[in-house]
Amino acid sequence: MIEIYKKLPKTNCGECGDTTCTAFALKVMNAQRKIQDCPYVAAEKDTLVLNKAIVTMDDNYSRVSNELEEEAKRVNFRETSAVIGGRYEIEDGTEKIKLKMMNMPYEVRREGLFEDGKYCPDSWSKIIIYDYVRRKGSRPLTGEWVTLGYFPNTASHVKAFQRNAEEKIAIKFNYDKEGLKIRCRELGGVAGQGKMKADYVYQFDLLPKIPLYLCFWDADDEFPASCKLFLDSSAEDYIDIEYLAYLVERFVEIFVQ
Ligand code: SF4
Repeated sequence: MIEIYKKLPKTNCGECGDTTCTAFALKVMNAQRKIQDCPYVAAEKDTLVLNKAIVTMDDNYSRVSNELEEEAKRVNFRETSAVIGGRYEIEDGTEKIKLKMMNMPYEVRREGLFEDGKYCPDSWSKIIIYDYVRRKGSRPLTGEWVTLGYFPNTASHVKAFQRNAEEKIAIKFNYDKEGLKIRCRELGGVAGQGKMKADYVYQFDLLPKIPLYLCFWDADDEFPASCKLFLDSSAEDYIDIEYLAYLVERFVEIFVQ
């Protein structure tokens, strides 16, 4: 963490959303923030020198995913599957927790994470799924739809989230409601009406027990289209909120492709 801190300007300006550079450095170490989220760190400095070895942020994510993997592997697969909405199976003597993340099939095995039957090398997928598995969240859905800012310590994400997520969707599908409906169905969205009065409401499962509600209002003569994303307030029981923020950002990246 000290090596990360040394790369920051140490001005505690708060622009990254964290109140101090120390708090930000701690989150980078835990792979909860990217070092580039500090606007004063140049992209080419995305490396750390530790014991004369060059360590990249990818190494850092890999370290965190390995730590979480060790914890996730030790859970009781059968019991955990039942709680987190996965499916427990034994195939050829191998225990598996099968689950979907953003409509893509994954398997947690004792030897690692598999995506669509192949070993998954992506550290972010591993961090998110292993954290979800090891937490064994069990809180039922509350039915209370909340925005990301509802959860504690999310100030660092809220503005970027509105700009990079909700506005992106609104801009992409402004005057294109058919395109919006097609994209929602492609990603496993289920149309419905919920608590919000919106022109379109779709529910997606980011993970089995973490629904995301997309509300979309069409453009009219006065205003352009707008979009709001909601989560169930139980989400913090299932996953670290920093990881949840990245999961939603990733969903939006795929959604607007
Ligand atoms: S943006 Fe964050 S990490 Fe960067 S100098 Fe300001 S407080 Fe420190």
